[in-house]
Amino acid sequence: MKYEECLPHQLDEIIQECPFAIIPWGAHEWHGPHNAVGLDTIKAYHMALDLCAEVGGVVLPPVYCGYQTMKPWRGFRHTLEFRRETVYWLLLQHLEQLYDEGFLLILVVMGHYGNKHVDIIQEAVERFNDCHSRARAVAWQDYLPAGWVEVRGGDHAGRNETSLLMHYRPDLVDISQLPAEGEIVHEIYGVSGDDPREATPEHGRMLAELFVEQAAPKIRDLLAEVLDIRRKSHGQL
Ligand SMILES: [Zn+2]
Repeated sequence: MKYEECLPHQLDEIIQECPFAIIPWGAHEWHGPHNAVGLDTIKAYHMALDLCAEVGGVVLPPVYCGYQTMKPWRGFRHTLEFRRETVYWLLLQHLEQLYDEGFLLILVVMGHYGNKHVDIIQEAVERFNDCHSRARAVAWQDYLPAGWVEVRGGDHAGRNETSLLMHYRPDLVDISQLPAEGEIVHEIYGVSGDDPREATPEHGRMLAELFVEQAAPKIRDLLAEVLDIRRKSHGQL
């Protein structure tokens, strides 16, 4: 379910049965000449929707707010760079507001994963967890669950990310924008990882399915923990 499309009685029911919310978090960022600039966020959003379809809960509208993007690194264009503090407070306020509404487990799916960006997201999550013993927030790079079974997913506009966008939104990828031959130099094309010219929708689908397969059981475990705490605290009243 998409949060913004829920009626109040539907949200009441979700909070009662499965108080789980996912925030897909990405950026507007250069992803080579062959991918749409919203790649990070679009893939995280679709992965979040897939996971939600499997375990329940709601997906918030995707957040386009990236720190440490390709712009400060080497001036890549069509990229919107936000301040560290903006990312921190925007996330912390989302977490606090969702908790205030009754959500007890909140997952941030990070589609953008510059190290410093990941650090500030984790800092906001830690702060939230320090303040609330009844609830739990976690933030995962979208490639992390595949990594639990040794499948390497993360790159920047390389074979993996390009394949994921081909799987979810083939209309947003145009491989012909890359040179047909020769090396794809990182500094020039803003691409890292395996060669994006080897990307396929089938590879993207495998990564997408692996994400749900690996993430769903962990989410169910975490959900059982917070529901247990809620049950016990109700029993004390
Ligand atoms: Zn990316």
